[in-house]
Amino acid sequence: MTERTTFFDTRLDYLKGLGPQRAELLNKELHLFTAGDLIQYYPFRYEDRTRFYTIAELMESMPSAQVRGRLRDWHTEGEGPKKRLVGSFTDGTGTMDLVWFQGLSWLEKTLRRDGEYVAFGKPQEFQGKFSIVHPELDAIRPEAEPEATLSPVYNLTEKLRRRFVDNKVMAKAMRSLLEQAWPHISETLPASLIEKFRLVGKREAVWNIHLPQSPAWLRQAERRLKFEELFYNQLRLIANKLIQKEEHPGQVFTKTALLAHFYKTMLPFPLTGAQQRVLREIHKDCLTGRQMNRLLQGDVGSGKTIVAFITMLLAIDNGAQACLMAPTEILADQHYNGLKPFADAMGLNLGILTGSTKTKRRRVLHDELLTGRMHILVGTHALLEDIVQFRNLGLCIIDEQHRFGVAQRAKMWAKNPVVPPHILVMTATPIPRTLAMTLYGNLDISIIDEMPAGRKPIKTVHKYDKHRAEVFGFMRQQIELGRQVYVVYPLIEESETLDYKDLTDGFEGMQRAFPQPQYQVGILHGKMDPYSKDYEMTRFAKGEVNILVATTVIEVGVNVPNASVMVIESAERFGLSQLHQLRGRVGRGSDQSYCVLMTGYKLSADTKLRLETMVRTNNGFEIADVDLQLRGPGDLAGTQQSGLMDLRLADLAKDGPVLTAARESAQIILETDPQLILPEHAPIRNHIDAIGRTQSDWSRIS
Ligand code: ADP
Ligand code: MG
Repeated sequence: MTERTTFFDTRLDYLKGLGPQRAELLNKELHLFTAGDLIQYYPFRYEDRTRFYTIAELMESMPSAQVRGRLRDWHTEGEGPKKRLVGSFTDGTGTMDLVWFQGLSWLEKTLRRDGEYVAFGKPQEFQGKFSIVHPELDAIRPEAEPEATLSPVYNLTEKLRRRFVDNKVMAKAMRSLLEQAWPHISETLPASLIEKFRLVGKREAVWNIHLPQSPAWLRQAERRLKFEELFYNQLRLIANKLIQKEEHPGQVFTKTALLAHFYKTMLPFPLTGAQQRVLREIHKDCLTGRQMNRLLQGDVGSGKTIVAFITMLLAIDNGAQACLMAPTEILADQHYNGLKPFADAMGLNLGILTGSTKTKRRRVLHDELLTGRMHILVGTHALLEDIVQFRNLGLCIIDEQHRFGVAQRAKMWAKNPVVPPHILVMTATPIPRTLAMTLYGNLDISIIDEMPAGRKPIKTVHKYDKHRAEVFGFMRQQIELGRQVYVVYPLIEESETLDYKDLTDGFEGMQRAFPQPQYQVGILHGKMDPYSKDYEMTRFAKGEVNILVATTVIEVGVNVPNASVMVIESAERFGLSQLHQLRGRVGRGSDQSYCVLMTGYKLSADTKLRLETMVRTNNGFEIADVDLQLRGPGDLAGTQQSGLMDLRLADLAKDGPVLTAARESAQIILETDPQLILPEHAPIRNHIDAIGRTQSDWSRIS
């Protein structure tokens, strides 16, 4: 690609109206180097200066207000650091004080007695009189009426402000920059989209995002720029997906003998409609001759495992091997134990490989994988090791995708040097649709949005610590009925020692309240050796333990259908998705299940919302949405490495509809014109060329 320089590459110090000193400050403080950088440095909010208030209208609750009036006189008060200049400002409806603590001598030189000014700032009231401390003060000149506007507020550093680069200076610099840039700003969206979604043009949008002509214009500018941002985000993801498909062949799975046999004679329960639909989607992928890269989303307990198993049968039917990778040993064990009876009944060789697999056993496994004697391998990260090689790996399933990175997925691809295996990744809990589209936009997505029939919704309650006796009473009652109970304590890395103390104190307390021999209380945490963990887990699974006190190691995937009560201690310390995950450990059998959220009294508004949400609903998709509203995408698993954080304007918690429109548009355009050669798509090509110089993964498209 040829290097073209444009106006937007102009260094800030060469820009008219800014000056080398300010340019250097902007370099150092905000990492802005070129005209393009500065233009894209959008305000983060606006001050409403669309109307003027009279002094009589002022209220202390106003965050800010502007008043036009006359500066009658001023004087200084106080001594030392308290020395201040107090001006008397009047507009015919009343009088207020304007107060300055700094720059007094300069002010005294420049202020005009009886001059007309617009004063702007936060009104404060003291003994019935209003004042503004350090107001922005603009002289009204007879030839120019003051403008009523929304004024931009930029993220500026303290140093910038001290060196007199404040919002007013920034706005002025922007105006000058925009005037110079105006002829160089070209449209970046095709006319068809602009028309279809009634978007304003690029120039108007960029102008108004910095210097809104009116609130309505600002809204239009924001909508347009958000659309553009999300459109290019989706265009890139979808283009990469198409390229992946193009570049990577996949095995074709046409035979279904084992699968049909299992389906007809061994299926332990009828599949839900959603499970059937998802299996059809997967099967279709495996017939295209292209590698499948599919994300399977489903709520806790929606039955993803059986879908995974049936897909593995499809691979074996066609002479390939399959593997299933889980993030923890407990989960891998459980998958293994759950699938073993099926595999045995069908004469399939199923193996397990984890960190604690003995060297001797490993050698056998490696050998069986290479010769093809082993059909299915279940395991943990141990599967990723280079020494683990297959005769013909046709399918790789990754459970709890969020615990693995993209690099690890790629590593599994390489395990079949001839044709890469089909990849199915499964999420632990649902993620919001907007996040799925951006985070996993390069994957095809299947959703299980239906629970197996007869599942009773878990009843959730919130109890304060002081109701512990009541909660213990309830636990006794459930144990009497033959059920089992989990009690989970938070474990946060930073305060690990304290947390372990909570856990062991809790365990001891539980042993006192539920004494042997009548009751058996077990303990499970991450620091135990694998043997003890396994021992405790097995005792609980067999029903020999009534109460299992544990940390979040039991979070992922653990399946003990007879456990019907989940007590979460210090529930205020868990995030929503984690609470939902934990709750999902119960409600797996036919009995009514319960979740008790224990907390102290001091709860923040966010915590209350989390607890209320848990009590209100069992729907993981709904919970994921609330989680996104509360935390924003930045804190959710996996978003940091995704480039999602490059979004300057769009907010995934709020802009779902814009995202959907942008994605559909990108999809249609790439389907009809994958090379983007149609004249009407020239704006897209040009824009990609322009940003391709700075963002490497675009280069593959052009
Ligand atoms: P998750 O999606 O959380 O991984 P699992 O696959 O562990 O859920 O399934 C949860 C439980 O539901 C398991 O005990 C499983 O056997 C059972 N199950 C799955 N599908 C169905 C179904 N269609 N009907 C009845 N029970 C089912
Ligand atoms: Mg699972």
